[in-house]
Amino acid sequence: MTSTTDDTTLLRSALHKHWGYDGFRPHQQAAMQSVLSGRDSVVVLPTGGGKSLCYQVPAVVLDGVAIVVSPLISLMKDQVDGLRECGIPAAAVNSSLSAAERGRIASDLRAGKLKLLYVAPERLCTERMLDFLHELKLSFIAVDEAHCISAWGHDFRPEFRLLGQLRDSFPDIAVHAYTATATENVRQDIAEQLRLDDPEFIVGSFDRPNLQYRVMRRSQVGTQIRDVIARHKGESGIIYCISRREVDSTAAELRADGYRAVPYHAGLTDEERHKHQDQFVNDQIDIVVATVAFGMGIDKPDVRYVIHAAAPKSVEHYQQETGRAGRDGLPAECVLCYSPGDFMTWERMCSELPPEAFQQMKASLKLMERYCVAPVCRHRALVEHFGQSYEGDKCAACDVCLDQLELVAEPLIVAQKILSCVIRVREMFGGQYVSQVLCGSQEARIRENGHDQLSTYGLLKEHHHKVVREWIEQLVGQGFLVKDGEYHTLKVTSHGRQLLKGEITPRLLQPTKKKTASSSSKAKNAADDRPFDTGLFEHLRQLRRELAETKGIPPFMVFGDVTLRDLARRRPTTPEAFGEVHGVGERKAAEYGDAFQFAIAEYCADHQLGMNIVVD
Ligand code: ADP
Repeated sequence: MTSTTDDTTLLRSALHKHWGYDGFRPHQQAAMQSVLSGRDSVVVLPTGGGKSLCYQVPAVVLDGVAIVVSPLISLMKDQVDGLRECGIPAAAVNSSLSAAERGRIASDLRAGKLKLLYVAPERLCTERMLDFLHELKLSFIAVDEAHCISAWGHDFRPEFRLLGQLRDSFPDIAVHAYTATATENVRQDIAEQLRLDDPEFIVGSFDRPNLQYRVMRRSQVGTQIRDVIARHKGESGIIYCISRREVDSTAAELRADGYRAVPYHAGLTDEERHKHQDQFVNDQIDIVVATVAFGMGIDKPDVRYVIHAAAPKSVEHYQQETGRAGRDGLPAECVLCYSPGDFMTWERMCSELPPEAFQQMKASLKLMERYCVAPVCRHRALVEHFGQSYEGDKCAACDVCLDQLELVAEPLIVAQKILSCVIRVREMFGGQYVSQVLCGSQEARIRENGHDQLSTYGLLKEHHHKVVREWIEQLVGQGFLVKDGEYHTLKVTSHGRQLLKGEITPRLLQPTKKKTASSSSKAKNAADDRPFDTGLFEHLRQLRRELAETKGIPPFMVFGDVTLRDLARRRPTTPEAFGEVHGVGERKAAEYGDAFQFAIAEYCADHQLGMNIVVD
């Protein structure tokens, strides 16, 4: 076995040669090292964290062919096309291949010509395929989207369970699992189901610093949506709605206004869905309006915004759907427009579920609601939801930390009134009841309990009890109150007692927001915020689209936006300068170098711009 330093050099030089990248993303190096050392591993990185490279780079470095298990044909195709663009021989076997194509892949494999082979689990685990693979030299097995093996995950696929037998079939071949699903029990389940041997667990941070999160109450959603789109002219975005009907009407309205938008939901034919997805991936349209049905298998790295026109049904869904923005590390925004009615809509839609699943769904809805109403840093709330702690006080990339919320002027006094009322009713009642006491309700129950005699009775009567109810949720969200037991009775926490003493001040949102948060400030934590020539960027974007169309691949596979920005910044017109650009590997330099250098030289001459700029 090679030493670690040698391994790092090998990995780095493959990363540079094929992908044109200079360094590793967090945890990539450890994950790759684990593959080289032959120890099983479970790698958990957020969407856009760079999981694919964790196995693709070692596959290039090691002898033999790596088997990659992947759930969707569209995912496999994208990955294989992307690898070939980088000059790496790879193939996918699936039902869409002709016998001749399958034969060619088999002979390439026998000749040791391929570095990666993508295959669906049900195909991999056939006797015929396993026998065939025994004839080959395998480097390792990678299981992508590995959470699909766990019934506790949100996307269980029974066919993934077949993968448990790989350990018996290939006892000496290491198995590596990759997922973006964070929960501890899913992680453990993956290791057990795949029968991994003392696996290394590599778990990255779930924070996505380049995403800017904003949550707002829904009012005139059409305007709220257009506000966001206006900040992203000609860029790609996704709008999620709850129902198919809303998807259709929103897409139609946007089209009528001249936007390049298409609908996507399970009510469309397969053909229509594929067409709309392809148009999006190929930059032929800008906006997909969709239900939850859209997204799995979309690797498009340059989605610049995700709008939720209604609340999703769980924080997990929210994380996954917003996660589709900004995979390339550049700034992207996620705007959620919710209404309390959304949660009831979901309950209605899921009322057919078996009782246990229904209860679980209601609990998830509650957490989602809390995320919406509690004015705590969105980055912190998401990271903590997934059991990690958030470093730092202010994220500088959410409506809360950017002070874009309309807040109550004297939140401490309001909160103290609420908490004292919780104590006066002896911490034996829920939010609904407490809000009614505070608002001086005439309900018989309150009088029967003698609570109309309390000093806190009617203390907030100038507000509607629904507003007080929301403030209570916001206080729960900030940890000043907890809901206890089956009846969700409110209790004051130790944090809450500090609030009562005036030692901490909470944040409470105004019931109606006068201004809509429409700041265009971008997340400061994005991978690359150095200036570049935007005119040249657009010019090169057009060239990229033309080259991609000729080759029949998505534009981002020619070069991603990070590379186009770097080109528009450095403006290389020689092969040497071109090779220095982020994301330009040897193969792409050879294939696209001339076209881009020529276009840059021409543009710079026309616009009197300097060329071959040296950038740190
Ligand atoms: P995931 O599968 O975790 O969602 P991907 O593997 O699709 O993420 O990577 C997301 C994007 O980041 C891709 O465009 C990929 O090329 C890019 N990327 C991955 N690793 C690096 C790196 N070390 N340096 C620069 N870009 C990277």
